[in-house]
Amino acid sequence: MTDPSDSRLTIDLDALSANYHALRAAASGADVAPAVKADAYGVGAALVADRLWNEGARSFYTARLSEGLALRRSLGDRDATIHVLDGVTPGSADVLVAARLTPVLNSLPQIEAWNSQARGGRLAASLHIDTGMNRLGLRLEEVRVLLAAMDRLKHVEVTQVISHLACANEPDHPLNPKQLERFHEAVALLPQARRSLANSAGVFLGEAYAFDQVRPGISLYGGGPHDRPDPRIRAVVTLEAPILQTRNVPRGESIGYGATFTATDNTRVAILAAGYADGIPRAAHPRGAVWFDGRRRPMLGRVSMDLIAVDITDCDAARPGAMMQIIGPDLSVDDAAAAAGTTAYELLTRIAPRAHRVIL
Ligand SMILES: *Cc1c(COP(=O)(O)O)cnc(C)c1O
Repeated sequence: MTDPSDSRLTIDLDALSANYHALRAAASGADVAPAVKADAYGVGAALVADRLWNEGARSFYTARLSEGLALRRSLGDRDATIHVLDGVTPGSADVLVAARLTPVLNSLPQIEAWNSQARGGRLAASLHIDTGMNRLGLRLEEVRVLLAAMDRLKHVEVTQVISHLACANEPDHPLNPKQLERFHEAVALLPQARRSLANSAGVFLGEAYAFDQVRPGISLYGGGPHDRPDPRIRAVVTLEAPILQTRNVPRGESIGYGATFTATDNTRVAILAAGYADGIPRAAHPRGAVWFDGRRRPMLGRVSMDLIAVDITDCDAARPGAMMQIIGPDLSVDDAAAAAGTTAYELLTRIAPRAHRVIL
């Protein structure tokens, strides 16, 4: 049964397809391999991969082994390349092989583990080379050491070299060209491998960053490449919640926990059935807003676990049962995130399963 007080999470698969093609158009002919980690940023990895396979995607990126396994199951006999960014973690090599997952090798011990897993045969893998992020991946010096002792790689077929940009969302950041230069040095050491550098924002840095494959995540799911709405990217996720009750709050009275908001005028208020347990950040107070009846309406007072209050003064359409938009086509995930001091990434991945999901 769908409870009428459930919040509603609508996934627009046509918008997802449109974003995939917008990224393809911007990617200068490079292959577009969707990042579907964290359940495709909360959108649903099985759903996303199924749709984007139909649009032509053949490679996907997950973070965890468990995500790669789930994706392999959901894609069934479709012959996708599924990369696992965590690589060969202890005890995972057999499982990776059995599920035909492609690890992204991040360190010399991971390379050793994969090399011995090949048992004299050859196993494919991607190699992650760090070019300035200092998170995962081998340093250039380590790659040179590795290539000087080729037997360490004897049973590993490096089909692809990847690196990851730290600041692509700031197009003028000096680390971008620096990472690009180091990536060129890295791929020159492994000339037979395919090359992949760009995330969503990297795609929009231009042709020099596209190489053979790009790996967008956030912009497939509706986030702009520069942490703000972008006309090339459509909203994929709409989160709405119904009004439970409306009330008049007299001037001088406060609303919500901590009495942090005091009405300076008589104020008409709608109480929505959504709170931080539904993924509305508690930090949305005091700058957050929702969209209803043609305009933004400020949230008033603290976000509670299950409820928020919204200013509906002079809005006759606001009645119990009416749905207000928390994120969606009229209130972008980037703007909603900025109001809460966070990013579209965090907002999307925290939308709670309590919402009733509707797939368009
Ligand atoms: C998450 C991730 C991506 C996708 O990044 P977006 O900014 O969401 O486009 C690409 N590559 C790697 C290595 C990642 O971890």
